Amino acid sequence: RSQELSEARIDYHAALLALQEHGTRMVCTGKMHTDRICRFDYLCYSSEAEEFVFFYSNSSVMLPNLGPRRFQPALLDLSSVEDHNTQYFNFLELPAGALKFMPKPVFVPDVTLILNRFNPDNLMHVFHDDLLPAFYTMKQYLDLDDEARLVFMEGWGEGPYFDLYRLLSSKQPLLKEQLKNFGKLMCFTKSYVGLSKMTTWYQYGFVQPQGPKANILVSGNEVRQFAKIMMEKMNITGPEEAAKEGEGTEEEKEKETREDYIVVFSRSTTRLILNEAELIMALAQEFQMRVFTVSLEEQSFASIVQVISGASMLFSMHGAQLVTSLFLPRGAAVVELFPYAVNPEQYSPYKTLASLPGMDLQYVSWRNTMEENTVTHPDRPWDQGGIVHLEKEEQERIQASKDVPRHLCCRNPEWLFRIYQDTLVDIPSLLEVLKEGLKTRPNLKKSKAASTVHPGRVREPQCQTSVQATNEAKLTVSWQIPWNLKFLKVREVKYEVWIQEQGENTYMPYILPQQNYTFSENIKPFTTYLVWVRCIFNKNLLGPFADVLMCRT
Ligand code: UDP
Repeated sequence: RSQELSEARIDYHAALLALQEHGTRMVCTGKMHTDRICRFDYLCYSSEAEEFVFFYSNSSVMLPNLGPRRFQPALLDLSSVEDHNTQYFNFLELPAGALKFMPKPVFVPDVTLILNRFNPDNLMHVFHDDLLPAFYTMKQYLDLDDEARLVFMEGWGEGPYFDLYRLLSSKQPLLKEQLKNFGKLMCFTKSYVGLSKMTTWYQYGFVQPQGPKANILVSGNEVRQFAKIMMEKMNITGPEEAAKEGEGTEEEKEKETREDYIVVFSRSTTRLILNEAELIMALAQEFQMRVFTVSLEEQSFASIVQVISGASMLFSMHGAQLVTSLFLPRGAAVVELFPYAVNPEQYSPYKTLASLPGMDLQYVSWRNTMEENTVTHPDRPWDQGGIVHLEKEEQERIQASKDVPRHLCCRNPEWLFRIYQDTLVDIPSLLEVLKEGLKTRPNLKKSKAASTVHPGRVREPQCQTSVQATNEAKLTVSWQIPWNLKFLKVREVKYEVWIQEQGENTYMPYILPQQNYTFSENIKPFTTYLVWVRCIFNKNLLGPFADVLMCRT
């Protein structure tokens, strides 16, 4: 094993000398432990102590140098979940001289990314907490390339989705458990510790009830680029490319690309759709499309992604499998089904994903409101929603409740009881919700990525004023188009003008199609107005305001 790492790519004695002389060096980004990623030279790990070790010498560097604040509460979050107290990273310090008394270190020559997976058993967590953040952390640091080594320190086994983690680099990821195999002391020549949180869109409810993150920084563009590369690595060709490459006449290929179909993502152990066959028939009938079912229990993940990547609609009970909607083509619809007494508004990881700007997915939720159509499982273990371990009174209260009240993660028994119900889907009410919720029939053909280019500032803004009478004045504002407009095809260009009387704290906003306008209403003589102008593309792409104009009538 240690040979596998060393591969003669590293001059052992030079590395040992460097470590002894220079010690560990750390330089980090981020002001807070929650937005920090650190880069290390010669960060070591003692498998005996199960601790990372920072070796001090005259030339070691530690930035930020926090002193004891390094433990308040930690240097950084090792997973992408913000400030979770089981996911903190820190290291022990030792003088480099102590190396003389320690086992000979094994050096890892690969550039290494060290992180915690948050919950590698759950597909939503795998994508949202680990794969996307690791993918974009690797994009942030050039030397974390296809040859990078990933090390997962959360301490879990490979888990059911390990093959997906393997797609991130050509090297086998290492688990904490395996680090022992490399000897008592291992030193990472170059490593990064921590994950970017830039791509996460959901918080799971550890400190406040779950919901979309307050400040989402990712758009559909980045999610789709990630999805595209993951598909390439899984050797999945998108439906269109598949058709192009296939045999057959142009017409046949055309047809092949045109075939619209629906996917029902089925769960086979918990949170079942009890009348799946009836649902499938009804959908085929209603939309005149073929309906395929997929399930994680029955197919390879790659074959599921292959099917989903060409689907017009994806139906599924609420659950982690719905994160696969990030592989849906633009213009497709996600239809999420919720069991009885569960409010879709309060559990929205997949709605938030589908609604990211540029994801270009439609989203509809349906909720079972008929108690006779739900099947509860009070006798199951607590983590599958069982409640028989609770006091009789509490059991009765839960059984009678029609809505799970807001709650924190992760062991609320009422929530677990309700979310693990099986559901007989009432077809008429589902079709009704679809009729109302789908603005247009899901359409993959017309869905090109919308432009996201924002206008530049308007140029040469000017104002001219004139006084007509003691109570009448005019204010003419004019400007030139933003510099980038002449390179763009924009459907609709408008301008927004804000006028504020100096000293007042309100302003009048105006939307104008042209590049100048004379205002006379509400304009007083011998008054100073502050005027801001900006450009707007296609109703919602706002540009920056030009420098404020001071206009005196
Ligand atoms: N899962 C599945 N089929 C089932 C139940 C669960 O494939 O019948 C998968 C699910 O997609 C997730 C994992 O098992 O990846 C854990 O499921 P759980 O119900 O605990 O979580 P949830 O789906 O509510 O996030």
